[in-house]
Formats: sequence, C-alpha cells, structure tokens
Amino acid sequence: MPDPRPPLTAEELLSLDRQHVWHPYGPMPGRQEPLLVESASGVRLRLAAAAEGQHELVDGMSSWWSAIHGYNHPVLNEAARDQLERMSHVMFGGLTHEPAVRLAQRLVEITPTGLEHVFLSDSGSVAVEVAVKMSLQHWRSLGRPDKRRLLTWRGGYHGDTWQPMAVCDPQGGMHELWSGALPRQVFADLPPAGFSAAPDPRYVAHLHEVFARHADEVAAVIVEPVVQGAGGMRFHSPGYLKVLRELCDAHDVLLVLDEIATGFGRTGELFAADHAGITPDVLCIGKAMTGGYLSMAATLCTSRVADGISRGEVPVLAHGPTFMGNPLAASVALASIDLLLAQDWRAEVSRIESALHKSLAPAAALPGVREVRVLGAIGVVQLDHEVDLPAATRAAVREGVWLRPFRDLVYAMPPFVSSDEDVARIGRAMCAAALEG
Ligand code: PMP
Repeated sequence: MPDPRPPLTAEELLSLDRQHVWHPYGPMPGRQEPLLVESASGVRLRLAAAAEGQHELVDGMSSWWSAIHGYNHPVLNEAARDQLERMSHVMFGGLTHEPAVRLAQRLVEITPTGLEHVFLSDSGSVAVEVAVKMSLQHWRSLGRPDKRRLLTWRGGYHGDTWQPMAVCDPQGGMHELWSGALPRQVFADLPPAGFSAAPDPRYVAHLHEVFARHADEVAAVIVEPVVQGAGGMRFHSPGYLKVLRELCDAHDVLLVLDEIATGFGRTGELFAADHAGITPDVLCIGKAMTGGYLSMAATLCTSRVADGISRGEVPVLAHGPTFMGNPLAASVALASIDLLLAQDWRAEVSRIESALHKSLAPAAALPGVREVRVLGAIGVVQLDHEVDLPAATRAAVREGVWLRPFRDLVYAMPPFVSSDEDVARIGRAMCAAALEG
C-alpha cells in the first residue's frame, strides 16, 4: 500500500525536528542542527543532504558502542524479518518463547563462569537499576537491611535514570546538577590510569580503607571494568578488579560489573572481566548485545544472589518491564552473538587496535592534545581544553567521518567490520577534530 503521507523535504524534517524533537543531552530547541541520516549500510551513514560536501560518513561511534557489525547487515536483517513473521512481541509475565530462552542460555554460556540467571530489560540504565535492586534485596533477604548503599570509584558512568545517576562521577559530569537530590553513595578515588600499569599499592590500600570503613552499610560495589566510558574514557589495570573481588568476598559486599559499553569484545576480551579472570556477582550488559539493532539489555546474576532474593520476606524480584524479553530484540541479539563468535573477532579487534595506534600517532604532537590512548577497538584523544563540539564535528565531517566528542575527549569505537582504510580515515578525522575543536 502506498504511503498516503506526502514526502517531506530535508528542510521540512529538520524544521519539524527543531520544533518538536528532543535530542540526547540537549536543550529544547537544540543549539546544533543534527545531520539527517537517510540510511546506513556497512560502516557508512548516508545523509539526506550533504554536510561539508559529504554525502556519506564513516561511523566512528558504532552508534554509541552498539553497531559492532555495521548497519543493514544481511544476517541481522534476516533474523529480524524471520522473527517479525512469527511475532514481534508478547508479554513476558506468564509466557515465554524460544528467542528469550535461547538468548538467556547463550548469555550464560559466554559470560564469566558462575553467572546463571538472566533478567532481560530494555535499556542499559534499566539493567543497572535491576542490578541495584537485586543487590539491596539480596542483603535484605538475608536479614541485613542496613546494607543498602553502593560503593563505586570516581570517574564512572552508569546511565541516566536515578540509581545509575547516583553512581556516576559526582563532579564535572552530566548529573552534577542532582548531587543534592540523589541517594548519597560511597566514592573511592579515581582508579590510577593505565591498562598495563601495575596496580598501585597506595590505591589498593585506599580501597582496603574504604571497604573497612563502609562495608557494613554497602550492598554492592558497582564499577565499569577496565574502561570507564562516558565518565572520561579512562583505562585502568584489570588488577584492581581482582582486588575488588577479594575485598567484596572478605567484606560481604556484592560485586556488580557494568559491561554495557565494554561487553562483546570491545576491549579485546569478550567481556572486560575476562582480563582479570574474575566473575562478578551481578553483570550488566546491553548496547552491542543486539548489534545495535534494537534496545535490549540484561542483568545476570549468580545462583547465590538469586537464592538470597528467593528466600526473603518478599521472595520475588519486583521488576517487569512491558517489553521484557522482546522476541524481536532477542532474535537479533542471538544472531549478533552468533555472528561475532563465528568470526575471529579477537583478530578483528586487534587489527582495529593496531590501525587506531597507527592513525592516531600524529595526534600526540598536535597543539592542545594532552594524551592519546588506545585499547582494543577504542581510540581516545584527550585535549587540554573543552572541545568546541560544532567545530570538531564539522572538522570530522569534512574528513567524511561521524564523531561525537564530549568534554575534553575526541574518541572513536569503530564497528568491528571497519576496514583498515576506514580506521585510517577515522584517525585523520580525530586529528582534525582535535586540531579544530
Ligand atoms: N552503563 C554504561 C557503562 C554506559 O556506557 C551506558 C550508556 N552510555 C549505560 C550504562 C546506560 O545505558 P542506556 O543508555 O542503554 O540506558
């Protein structure tokens, strides 16, 4: 059936966008006009109207860590189409279905050993909310209701709903405005920088001290393992995760790892916890789980956590999003995970790592650049000043690349299917954005 609505021009769409549509982290109306994307395929976004002379942009952002296989992938398209013909959604209360069951089984198989139970939800922030609820309820069920605070380290980011906001870095981040209204959590210092640096004994002693002081009131430690993303794109030694695991065991505190950004190969291991060889009590994943096709996240936990909850005064986890277990998203997630595991993903990520190192080498010598760092398929150019977002965006677009810098950071996490030339172009665009931003 033909669409009865008349087509809108690019100008009309942008004008309506300005009038009605709120964009992430923006005012209403927005200050910077968004680029209008018509379609996307492979690693390229096709624009409805040329920007800076470019009709197509290589996506350096994987749509915020998620589109690891690129866009319009025939295998993921097929999985979505096939599931659409069966059912796009049914409620999950009292019903179940093959895509959700198989996805849960697959997630248990590929995540660190010991995580046995899977709570599916619709976004990363909700997965973190569920992790927090699980943790508090676990201790409450065991007769320790005083354990209801969270412990984290500075520099983190865990999402934009209320509990996640309370464990985001309280200073200089997006949620500083709410510091007086949010639940007050316990913050350890920023973990020392450097993936390869040996753990600093002074920082380890600091962690011991914080645990000794607060463990009685703390239900869980929550951190992003190895890479802190939107809180500053910092890397730290996996050694600190081992220390956290030991301290949690010694002090009756649960360990929650937020792998929403780092999961599914991005840091060079399938999950960043694998760099440390540890299993958290609770794991949050999302973003790349569906290859960036649909919104789905998951919170996994051990049997100890699930049993604790199920033995309590209220022996249920009172959470049940309307779109829990969405079959369409679950089918695509399964296809995306199979696609990832069927290839030598480790070699692909390491290829991108080398290409990022090479293409970002000139950035270190640019004026205004403080540091260049690369880990897995993540490249970061940190400036010594706040980036001029419109100027940096324009500079990247001129090079034919989509980037979205923030604060003092020009960064990229390309789709794993990016060719060496694509990554070289992304590197050139990051240098241009650093120079002009
Ligand atoms: N945790 C981390 C580490 C993230 O990077 C994000 C998203 N940027 C979230 C949680 C929140 O996920 P979502 O945006 O899907 O709610």
